[in-house]
Amino acid sequence: EIPSMQKKIVLLGDSSVGKSSLVFKFVKDQFFENQEPTIGASFLTKTVPQNSHEVKLQIWDTAGQERYESLAPMYYRSASGALVVYDINDKQTFKKAKFWIKELISNGENGVIIFLVANKSDLEHNVDSVEASKYCEENGLFYFETSAKTGHNVVEVFTSMASQFEYV
Ligand code: GDP
Ligand code: MG
Repeated sequence: EIPSMQKKIVLLGDSSVGKSSLVFKFVKDQFFENQEPTIGASFLTKTVPQNSHEVKLQIWDTAGQERYESLAPMYYRSASGALVVYDINDKQTFKKAKFWIKELISNGENGVIIFLVANKSDLEHNVDSVEASKYCEENGLFYFETSAKTGHNVVEVFTSMASQFEYV
């Protein structure tokens, strides 16, 4: 039997950037044009095989609305990894992503692995990719462009997160 470890990861970001859509696409390979807004938070699990072991990802999907913001620390405080998502079509959501990254760095788990995820890459790019990747370089983050709609980089972003966790 393959050794297995469980890791909790969390998705943070403005509402409607596609957090739930990314999780559903990865876990169920489904995409909905009218994805229901998330209430509070929910979680799904998916096992990602590695060479010597497997990683059971416990994926916490949070609601982006302001009124749920105070709940976020409950979900990210014990997370080993975070996907901070914004909408590449919407500049305002990039600002919010930077806010969440600061939150994670100051209040998250020590050594939390942070991915900045520019979702909706199938739409017009109103946030500059060079600026975003430069921001990641300066802050020691990983940068991905994804589309939950086309599936672009969706499996890659989650499997790459899983591969960051050292098996001990
Ligand atoms: P959340 O609030 O961050 O969880 O966002 P949702 O997953 O609920 O998605 C909000 C809306 O954006 C829904 O209408 C989705 O169908 C749409 N959406 C999500 N991801 C993408 C994407 O990659 N491309 C496009 N064009 N639309 C997307
Ligand atoms: Mg949602």
